Amino acid sequence: MTCQIVYHNGNCLNTKKPFARACRLCIEGCPHQAISEYRQLDAKLCTECGACMAVCPSDGFVDQTMHQLHDYLLGAKEIVLNCPQAIPRGFEIPCLGILDRDGWITLMLLAREKSVTIMTGVCAECEDRQACAASVQVFKQVHLDWPDHASVRIQVRPEEETVVSETEDGSKSVVRRVEMTGWRQRSMKKIEEWLPNLTADETYPMSRSRQWLLGVLEKTLEEKIPFRALTVADTCTSCGVCAAICPQGALQKREEMNPVIEDADKEEKIMSLRLILEPQKCVHCGRCVEICRPLALSFSTKQLSYRLLTGKILLHEGSPKYCSRCGKRIFDNSELCLVCSTSDPGSGSSFFL
Ligand code: SF4
Ligand code: SF4
Repeated sequence: MTCQIVYHNGNCLNTKKPFARACRLCIEGCPHQAISEYRQLDAKLCTECGACMAVCPSDGFVDQTMHQLHDYLLGAKEIVLNCPQAIPRGFEIPCLGILDRDGWITLMLLAREKSVTIMTGVCAECEDRQACAASVQVFKQVHLDWPDHASVRIQVRPEEETVVSETEDGSKSVVRRVEMTGWRQRSMKKIEEWLPNLTADETYPMSRSRQWLLGVLEKTLEEKIPFRALTVADTCTSCGVCAAICPQGALQKREEMNPVIEDADKEEKIMSLRLILEPQKCVHCGRCVEICRPLALSFSTKQLSYRLLTGKILLHEGSPKYCSRCGKRIFDNSELCLVCSTSDPGSGSSFFL
């Protein structure tokens, strides 16, 4: 099984929509410091542990074999995944680290209808144990949110695994297990030949693990899965900034204008604003939560069915706030805008004028 992790520029959140604090999850998450500030992958440092794939919310880094994995998950009668350090008995994935939250939930859904086993090497000996440990943490979180999920078996290779070989004269000899080396080490030469030609110009709006999840969930319309969904508190001022910065278009705003006011900016004509969430598009990047000045947004785990996950949810409806003195739009819960709150109404002078 050959695989190669590549950067998909068009999928990266930073290219979808600029944000003051650019995403660096892949750079910070790579245990081998193989990703540069410009998201270039140093093939000699990369061990294909998949940590970048697991932390990236939107498939900025993706393994080229992921579509084959999808076909395997749906088509196989019994699912056996093995990492390169395990006994090669199933579909080889680069590391457990490639499984993000959606990936784990997909496996748990599939485990209701067929056996799902993941075979790993001895993690303590593996140079990719950091990526694996991060994925196991994600698994634990899903398990806490969904305690009655169907079980996914994880089999760790015994440390002193042996194989029995039979010679022509019928005598048997016990030999130590063949040396397990990662796919990458085995075919490094090939990668070096291909590297100049590798392209990663594929762009798609939804990560592959989310596509798997929806594909499996669609078959069982009544099933509910734990999903981290956005919620809005009463402190929301209907400013709509969260929807404007959402790189996925998961959060959208619908504004209703006042037809009576003519001589005003568009901003000052808005009568009401609705926030609509499409949960399936949300990648939990947290940008909307971070930018919300009145701290009105947060995530909470909700049990969502396929219908709710793929539908549109009205999160909030309200009227924008305007300065009680000058009438300009304000974006927090104050009565006065910044200029009016720092000015002297008598003299008209302001800190900002
Ligand atoms: S983690 Fe993904 S979205 Fe974030 S910078 Fe890396 S590639 Fe881009
Ligand atoms: S967390 Fe917020 S900004 Fe990020 S994708 Fe979800 S709705 Fe959009």
